[in-house]
Amino acid sequence: MSQRILILGGGFGGLFTALSLSGRQDVTLVSDEDHFLFKPMLYEYLSGEVEAWHIAPDYKELLDEGTRFIRGKVTGINLDASEVTLENRSEPISYDVLLIALGAATNYAGVEGAEQFTLPFRTLNDANRLRRRMTEALDRVPPASAPQDTRGKLTFAVVGGGASGVELATKMADLLRDAVKRRALHGEPRVLVIEMADRLVPGMGQEIRRYVEDALEATRVEVHTETSVVKVTASGITLDHQNAHTEIETAAVVWVAGVRVNPLIEQLAIEKDRRGLIIVQPTLQVRGHENVFALGDIAFYQDVVPTLSGTAQLAFQQSSLLARNVKAFVEGRELKSKHFVELGEAVSLGTERAAVLSAGKVIGGPLARQARFAMYTSRLPTWHHRLRVGASWFFEGTEPRPLQPLGF
Ligand SMILES: Cc1cc2nc3c(=O)[nH]c(=O)nc-3n(C[C@H](O)[C@H](O)[C@H](O)COP(=O)(O)OP(=O)(O)OC[C@H]3O[C@@H](n4cnc5c(N)ncnc54)[C@H](O)[C@@H]3O)c2cc1C
Repeated sequence: MSQRILILGGGFGGLFTALSLSGRQDVTLVSDEDHFLFKPMLYEYLSGEVEAWHIAPDYKELLDEGTRFIRGKVTGINLDASEVTLENRSEPISYDVLLIALGAATNYAGVEGAEQFTLPFRTLNDANRLRRRMTEALDRVPPASAPQDTRGKLTFAVVGGGASGVELATKMADLLRDAVKRRALHGEPRVLVIEMADRLVPGMGQEIRRYVEDALEATRVEVHTETSVVKVTASGITLDHQNAHTEIETAAVVWVAGVRVNPLIEQLAIEKDRRGLIIVQPTLQVRGHENVFALGDIAFYQDVVPTLSGTAQLAFQQSSLLARNVKAFVEGRELKSKHFVELGEAVSLGTERAAVLSAGKVIGGPLARQARFAMYTSRLPTWHHRLRVGASWFFEGTEPRPLQPLGF
């Protein structure tokens, strides 16, 4: 009798595993959205350089006919009963083999007002909301506004100075500056990056960091290191630098300061590390539950360099090992382990440039921007989708979409 394989989460780990298992008739993928999201290009979606269909194709387009897709929010996982409950279904789903790939959630670290007043940046909707906030802020600047008033009304803070914070801040700065110019406003926007550590992108190599620093300077992003956020309100942010507090009025604060494990994992009585990640064996099996596997942002896999953990690169590589091991498990064969490697680094740095580290070489500037598009075309799911998107980027271009006045 065929075993029922249930995959929770349709991100890099879950979707790519489902695709590698295609051809089987016993696979079900459950996810709370109807589309996959290629998160590394969410910045380009914000700026309009790419469209939703490029980076967020529907599962129905990607999965083969044998794979069943259920859209629903998982509300409970019962490992003893081998059942999963969904918000929109009265009956639980039973499984023989469970693959957990539910990803991470935004970590607000208990900062007052952060969850209530900041914008997260993890989904298409988050990007839509941020774009709208930028446009609304621009629409509130009168044409004859003095430069300091323009700057005040167009102040945005990005909390978190990792790659995400840098990519987002440089993109926002370029978009806002372009809109200020198009609308012939006086003055400049102000985009701040707030980071607790003494420098931005701490895990990045020296050579690629040079391009990051140049881009921050060119886009005039204001960098505040050794600074923590004390409080966020509807209209501003309070910062602490060396015990001195500063209040800054903001049009929006975006929170990319860290992630925590998906809350559903917190409820599971299984072995976890101090961050709450599921400790998986080298085969990706959950200890004590040989028919349960976990991968991606929720799993701690020992044989991995720290810079690779919590990345799409890792979840993507794990998906092929997982698909192989699930087939082996079902067929009673021996399961394997794998050493995962860094596939290179590619950071977007505003709307005109990027920096790419590949095979030990770093390139920067507009050429790197093109290289990043090419590199990511090859990482999109399915050949069919890659071809359609590649053709669209090649023939229709990847120009940013300006922040037009609302109702334009
Ligand atoms: C803006 C951004 C940019 C990034 N850029 C890069 C990059 O350049 N390079 C890189 O390597 N990594 C990058 N990452 C990190 C990378 O996206 C993650 O490490 C990767 O997505 C992890 O894969 P995953 O399968 O574990 O989780 P995800 O890809 O997050 O997938 C989790 C899936 O589970 C679904 N889900 C969650 N909760 C539920 C629920 N309760 N019920 C049903 N479904 C649920 C989600 O909708 C999603 O489909 C970026 C992340 C973000 C947010």
